Amino acid sequence: CKTDSKNSITNSEETPYDTKVDSLMSLMTLQEKIGQTVMYSGGWSVTGPVVSSNNLKFIKEGNIGAMLNVYSVKGTRDLQKIAVEETRLGIPLLFGYDVIHGFKTIFPINLGLAASWDLEDIEKGSRIAAEEASAEGIHWTFAPMVDIARDPRWGRISEGSGEDVYLGSEISKAYVKGFQGDDLSKHNTILACAKHFVGYGAAQAGRDYHTVNMGQDELRNVYLPPFKAAVDAGVETFMTAFNEINGIPATGNKFIFNDILRDEWGFNGFVVTDYTAINEMVEHGFAENEKHATELAIKAGIDQDMMSSANRLYLEELVNEGKVDVTLINQACRRILLAKYKLGLFDNPYKYCDEQREKEVVYKPEFLEAARKSAAMSSVLLKNEDHTLPLNKDQTIALIGPLVKDKENILGNWAAAGDRKGKAISVYQGVQEYVNDSKILFAKGCEIEGEDKSGFNQAINVAKKADKIVMVLGEDYDMSGEAACRTNIKLPGRQTDLIKAIRKAVPNKKIVLVLMNGRPLDLSEEDTLADAILETWFPGTSGGYGVADVMFGTYNPSGKLPVTFPRTIGQIPIYYNMKNTGRPIPPDNPKEDYKSNYIDVPNTPLYVFGHGLSYTTFDYSDIELSAPTIGFSDTLSASATITNTGNYDGYEVVQLYVHDKVGSLTRPVKELKGFKKVFLKKGESKTVNFNITIEDLKYYNADMEFDVEPGEFEIAIKGTSDFDFKHTFTLE
Ligand code: BGC
Repeated sequence: CKTDSKNSITNSEETPYDTKVDSLMSLMTLQEKIGQTVMYSGGWSVTGPVVSSNNLKFIKEGNIGAMLNVYSVKGTRDLQKIAVEETRLGIPLLFGYDVIHGFKTIFPINLGLAASWDLEDIEKGSRIAAEEASAEGIHWTFAPMVDIARDPRWGRISEGSGEDVYLGSEISKAYVKGFQGDDLSKHNTILACAKHFVGYGAAQAGRDYHTVNMGQDELRNVYLPPFKAAVDAGVETFMTAFNEINGIPATGNKFIFNDILRDEWGFNGFVVTDYTAINEMVEHGFAENEKHATELAIKAGIDQDMMSSANRLYLEELVNEGKVDVTLINQACRRILLAKYKLGLFDNPYKYCDEQREKEVVYKPEFLEAARKSAAMSSVLLKNEDHTLPLNKDQTIALIGPLVKDKENILGNWAAAGDRKGKAISVYQGVQEYVNDSKILFAKGCEIEGEDKSGFNQAINVAKKADKIVMVLGEDYDMSGEAACRTNIKLPGRQTDLIKAIRKAVPNKKIVLVLMNGRPLDLSEEDTLADAILETWFPGTSGGYGVADVMFGTYNPSGKLPVTFPRTIGQIPIYYNMKNTGRPIPPDNPKEDYKSNYIDVPNTPLYVFGHGLSYTTFDYSDIELSAPTIGFSDTLSASATITNTGNYDGYEVVQLYVHDKVGSLTRPVKELKGFKKVFLKKGESKTVNFNITIEDLKYYNADMEFDVEPGEFEIAIKGTSDFDFKHTFTLE
């Protein structure tokens, strides 16, 4: 057989596996090397490999390097056996899967996890997900999605960490550390994948896959940093985005992959395309045909082809025709093999498929308990008039709404392995932990979608009999996620009418609105109807327990919004760290003529980024700075004393904001630069300190250099992004 010995290595980083990869590659044919760059789907089954006969044939011939969507011990073991025992060189397959917010034990959706602002918890959750997934033979998760998203119409806003660069970057690192652990060769660590590179969250009009056009300022200062953070945390793989960016589809974009990811950032792992994204370059109008698209992708620095068949069908031909340099294929193959070596697959290709470990780890009680805690920590108390919450265990509670007993939607999207049919704990079950059954009344009222109001009367009846009313409303799980964008971000169906009907029937009773949804909703009507609003996102397998823990005060809510909730869809995009205009509106006169405002609604959102109430209250002292002026090598210490002035112990997420007043490129009006979650007993005070160096103040300036510019900065330490700066320091 033909052997290709020109294994040119362009990766600069040396690894302990280089010699092994070299000797393996010296045995490989060009076709086998191309095989490593090919990934196919195994179909969605837990009972065994659902693999087409074609794919089985390709595996046997050594023409497939990775599979996705095979996620069971039996499924992965059977296929691995074929790869290892029946192919010429016995190279093990890599099994990838979308382990997005948990594998079997489902955690809150990612936007919810971001609302906890709890990096330790997020890392722990992804560690648990890796424990479970790895036991079933999975080596690689297509996560985290670190796309900044500022448009709630876009369904995939649910899969990311929200609108903010700093918060998103910190969370990006936490996920990578959790999935990959400290040693990839362990049987319970899996490869992470930063996706979707890049700009996917900026799709025009919030429509999935749509065009993205953005200048270097926005690209480098907003959309790239969470990806850079993933690289800094050691992420092993990257995924391309479906969108084009500035006229060039991401999957054929040399600038973002070769220039930025490889050359600027020194990324040494491998890049996989998104699902069929190579072929899609034809529809984009960027490639003449699929063969041309294949050429463009490999030349842009893309290593593995997910589902396009493009590499399998055309790469060899392109090399033979002299259109593609064989070194590009060697490089891609090498990067993929390196990942397999790092995982230890050549030592023991089956160590990830382990029935015994599967039995021990899947749905382990401590994992379910961790998911319960995450659900509580992700809940955001948006409103709480007259201490409506927490609930009193001795009162009769009416539980009303289509999501009260739900065990399916509560898992959110991307939870295929998580047993939608029964494993989850509903809010109803959560409440049963606290209240005697005789004091729980239930009525569904209506469905999530649809026009039917025939259940309203029963709901009104139970509301009349209860002391307090808890309505659990929201979206279907598949109203957010991929290709699930909405032009209307209100509660779907007749749910708002249901609240209105109940409000009218029992005007003096307290109504708690518990929400499950995958995006910021327009809650302007609900805000006037409900006394308390608790945003729980889709809280996952133990969601009902976690939400009940919050409602009954076992966990005092500490979540803060990672994304702005607009007053109306017409304000979109609306986010806290916007730029100023030459005509900002004066705070005391929002309707002044010829200012940057609307004539019909204020500029402010309904709930700001960073907002989230507690059952207690926190008082912030003025910020104290170690010096009014600092030099380039100094560290500024900024501190504030936070006092718990209410009646409950609780956590507070303390947030540090800075405003660079003048820049060679205009700077956002506020930028989050740090946060700390602190626990304060009632009456207790703590001083929270942040150290700021020039590294924290750098940005990509007018020359596209990552640098700091001297001048005046405003600074504040607060529990929300809704404040006016009162303090400054100068950098000289
Ligand atoms: C999504 C990716 C996902 C992939 C594999 C695509 O449609 O955009 O985020 O990882 O499918 O399931």
